[in-house]
Amino acid sequence: MNENNFIETVVAGAGLTGLTTAYNLKRSGKPVLVIEKSGRTGGQIQTLNRDGFVFETGPNTGTVSHPEVAELFSALSPACELETADENANNRWIWKGNRFYPLPSGLFGGIATPLFSWPDKFRILGEPFRAKGTNPDESVGELASRRLGKTFVDYAVDPFISGIYAGDPYSLVTRYALPKLYNLEQNYGSFIKGSIAKAKEPKTERDRLATKKVFSVKGGLGNLASALADAIGRENIVLSASSLKITPDGENWKIDYRLADGERSIRAKNVVTTVGSHALPEMLPFVEKTDMDKISCLRYAPVIQVVVGVKDILGLRFNAFGGLIPSCEKKPLLGVLFPSACFAGRAPENGMLFSFFIGGMKAIHLTELSDSELTALVLREFHDMLKFSAGKEPDMIHIARHKYAIPQYEKSTGERLETVEKLQNRYSGLVIGGNLKNGISMGDRILQGTNIAKSLVNQ
Ligand SMILES: Cc1cc2nc3c(=O)[nH]c(=O)nc-3n(C[C@H](O)[C@H](O)[C@H](O)COP(=O)(O)OP(=O)(O)OC[C@H]3O[C@@H](n4cnc5c(N)ncnc54)[C@H](O)[C@@H]3O)c2cc1C
Repeated sequence: MNENNFIETVVAGAGLTGLTTAYNLKRSGKPVLVIEKSGRTGGQIQTLNRDGFVFETGPNTGTVSHPEVAELFSALSPACELETADENANNRWIWKGNRFYPLPSGLFGGIATPLFSWPDKFRILGEPFRAKGTNPDESVGELASRRLGKTFVDYAVDPFISGIYAGDPYSLVTRYALPKLYNLEQNYGSFIKGSIAKAKEPKTERDRLATKKVFSVKGGLGNLASALADAIGRENIVLSASSLKITPDGENWKIDYRLADGERSIRAKNVVTTVGSHALPEMLPFVEKTDMDKISCLRYAPVIQVVVGVKDILGLRFNAFGGLIPSCEKKPLLGVLFPSACFAGRAPENGMLFSFFIGGMKAIHLTELSDSELTALVLREFHDMLKFSAGKEPDMIHIARHKYAIPQYEKSTGERLETVEKLQNRYSGLVIGGNLKNGISMGDRILQGTNIAKSLVNQ
């Protein structure tokens, strides 16, 4: 910041989007100040270390879905080392009746699995010949049941949507929530034909950096946030800043916020918001209510992650990424991950970590349970679902609550995106980023932050 309290760019929010944006600006020699409400960097990303367990309270793993993800890790090495999951991560389980079954991959597994009905197994064979949809706002559930059949929606799509969005497949609009799937049908007429054709398309060396690899970071994802913050420079990040307000100020922007010892005010040429849409009405008070309502009406699924550590699993085997629970099975869980089965150094030698996910759009009421009610619920499933013997107790339990966990890209998305675009065009130097658009995963957040920085460097 110069002596006139002016800085080229202010970034609101020090989650993965804000940190990636600021990191890329800094690398291009552009001055930046990150202003964050909480007392730490990382936003939803947080790794804790307790009683010999290293665990995540937010996201557990990402996928190297864009070249920008691989490039970010290359640039940050050796301060932060990408860790790819071992082969257990290829095994995904689905609950049916009273046990988990492997999610089939390949033709033989698909035919043999008891997860789908015989009529739907035959139906899948006809998928390439089915007409493509004409409703651009078709939900994921409608699209999948039209092409693949109801049991496929119940035992594959519904748990997949629980695992990613903690959402309802019949509310999420495919072209916003799963654009790659939507485009397969629109461009190739079928998921199967489209996947085969895409696999044959020529790829540049850079394209090949994007893979399906599941990643974490050595020592946990928190080390990614720390490495980014260190590279940005801690002196360029303001923590514990409350009441952040951004208002137009001639050709620039005025940014006001409060620290423990008093009010602060600075000016900037560019402002980038990376906070959830629910935080924008207070942050951008100059935006007319009719416009802001179209952005802030975005619904977020609340989710609770209960992490359970067991120092000795007494020979039980959990050689998988985790298990998902179809909502038709009426269990009080979205699913459970086995992080220490996929990454070394997360649990003591004979022990394991289990991350139970509770709530989501279909079970919001469960996120209102008290800590002791949640503990009792998880202990029941620890014995019933994971089959630990009656006398066995976990050695560590940690409860992490996320009121605004995952944005739901529903029908309102089109109007939201148009309004964001309109405001950005009207107010020069304003960028409204964050997970209200461009995808919900860590890979999407890295891509968006990289692109925002690029657009500001090239302006
Ligand atoms: C429980 C859970 C599990 C997840 N699992 C996965 C997963 O397995 N894989 C995956 O890829 N993704 C997962 N995600 C999603 C992933 O965590 C997010 O995509 C990503 O971390 C979001 O980063 P962000 O910077 O956009 O938002 P955030 O991390 O929410 O960062 C926004 C920041 O803005 C700050 N802020 C808010 N209001 C203000 C204000 N008024 N002034 C200043 N600062 C403010 C917040 O404190 C926060 O630090 C999961 C998310 C949750 C909650």
